[in-house]
Amino acid sequence: MTIQVQNVTKRFGTFEALNGVNLDIQPGELVALLGPSGSGKTTLLRVIAGLEQPDSGRILFNGEDTTDTRVQEREVGFVFQHYALFRHMSIFENVAFGLRVRPRATRPPEAEIKRRVMELLKLVQLDWLADRYPHQLSGGQRQRIALARALAIEPKVLLLDEPFGALDAKVRKELRRWLRRLHDEINLTSVFVTHDQEEALEVADRVVVVNHGRIEQVGTPEEIYDHPATPFVYQFIGNVNLFEGRVHNGVAHISSGEIHAPEHLDVADAPATAYVRPHEIDIANGPDPDTVAATLNHTTKLGAMVRLELARRDNGALVEVELPRERFDHLNMATGNVVYFRPRRARVFLAADRGTQVA
Ligand code: ADP
Ligand code: MG
Repeated sequence: MTIQVQNVTKRFGTFEALNGVNLDIQPGELVALLGPSGSGKTTLLRVIAGLEQPDSGRILFNGEDTTDTRVQEREVGFVFQHYALFRHMSIFENVAFGLRVRPRATRPPEAEIKRRVMELLKLVQLDWLADRYPHQLSGGQRQRIALARALAIEPKVLLLDEPFGALDAKVRKELRRWLRRLHDEINLTSVFVTHDQEEALEVADRVVVVNHGRIEQVGTPEEIYDHPATPFVYQFIGNVNLFEGRVHNGVAHISSGEIHAPEHLDVADAPATAYVRPHEIDIANGPDPDTVAATLNHTTKLGAMVRLELARRDNGALVEVELPRERFDHLNMATGNVVYFRPRRARVFLAADRGTQVA
C-alpha cells in the first residue's frame, strides 16, 4: 500500500498543527515521524488514519482519495503508547477481538479465529501467554500483544504512536530491534511516531523530521545524520557545536579560525553559523591561521573514543570534541592545557537561512 499525504493543513482553533505537509510512503516501508513534543507527529498520524479530518489537502491510499472512506474501512492497524488491552479479557481474547466484532458475514469461523490468533501470538513470540490476563504481563509483553491485536484484522497499513514510549530504556531498545525484525518478516507499510532520534535512526527505512507542523527533511537515517538539510535537523539529530561568525567569499571566520564554505562563494560579507559535529574537530599541534585557542576542561574516555570538553579562550563558549583514543594518547594533553582546535568539516548556514531549507 502506498500512502500519499498531499498538502495537508490542520488547525486547532487558530493554532496550526500541520502546515502544508507533503509525504510519499512506499509499499512495505517502515517510516519514522521524528520531532520534538508538540511538533504535530500524532496529528499527522491521526490524519493518515482518518481519525482526524484535515482542513485542506488529502490522503491517498494506493492512489485513491480516502477522504470519504470511514475509519473502519481504511484497514488500518493501530498501536498506541499506552497499552489499550482489555483488562477483563485473556490475551487470546484480546487478540481475537477485532475478528469477533466483525459483522457475521465477514467474521471468520471459530476454528479460523483460533488458528489466526495463535499464529499472531507465535509471530510476537508470546503464544505461551495465551491464557493469561494483561495484568500478568510485563509492559514490553503487553506492547507486543497490542501489536498482535492490531495485526489480527490484517491491516493494509500499520500506525504506531510512540509504541515504546512508556517502557524503560533497556526494554525499549530490545523492542525496537524486535520491531525491525518483525517488519522485515511481514513487510507491512508502517508509520511510527517517536521523539527519540536514536530509535528513529535505528529502526526506520526513512526518517521524516517534523518541526512546528512542517517537514524539515525526509531521508534515510544516513542522509539525515550525515547531511542535515536545516539548522534544526543538525541540532535535533546528534550533538553539534555552533560557531558564530561571518562569511566572506566562501570562507567562514570564527574567532581566529577559518572554515571553508564553498557553498557561499558569492557571499561578500554576511553573518553565519558553522555547525560542526564533535567528531569533525581535530586538535592541532600549535596555533595556525585556521585554529581556535581553547582550554581543555575535561576528558571522558568512552571505549575507543575520548570526549573532550574545551572552553574557547576568546569567549568562554564550550566546545565538544570526540577523538579516537589513539589520536588522544598521541597528543599527550592534560586538563588545564591550552590547545588549538580545527574544524575538519562544517556546514555553514547564513543567519538569513536559519530555520529554512538550504540546498
Ligand atoms: P506531537 O505528537 O508531535 O507531540 P501533536 O500532534 O499531538 O504533537 O500536537 C501538535 C500540537 O497541536 C500541540 O501543540 C497540541 O497541543 C495541539 N493539539 C493536538 N491535538 C489537539 C486538539 N484536539 N485540540 C487542540 N490542540 C491540539
Ligand atoms: Mg504525540
